[in-house]
Amino acid sequence: MKLKLLIFKKETKDYTKTQYKIVIIDLDRTKQYPQNFVCILPKNIKLKVKPSSTFEKMFGKESIEIAKQLLKKALRSRPDSETTQAIRERLKLLDPQPHNKTKCENCGKPIKQSKGRFRPYKFCFECYSKRL
Ligand SMILES: [Zn+2]
Repeated sequence: MKLKLLIFKKETKDYTKTQYKIVIIDLDRTKQYPQNFVCILPKNIKLKVKPSSTFEKMFGKESIEIAKQLLKKALRSRPDSETTQAIRERLKLLDPQPHNKTKCENCGKPIKQSKGRFRPYKFCFECYSKRL
């Protein structure tokens, strides 16, 4: 497979915001679109037990890595600035959010952060209650 991204600008009623549709094509099949269409690049790749998109079904655990590689390759082809922006946004979505993976500063256990909190927790509940 020789995968490549095709990026389409979608016409929307809201002219202030351009929507993008990113699809994956396989250049080994044919150079003609849509005959070489593989699947749509999903916005979110969650790597759950049950894959939620064709893309995840195809690439499994490597989904995020492959998606990133393809996006970076698309950046290297020097698209216009709006498209570059759209690709960067997609890359950002694929990066795991560090604030959701905080570790307790005392025992190193991962802490589940609550979404609405202004400041993230530094200690797990056990260590926190011991300090009181
Ligand atoms: Zn702790």
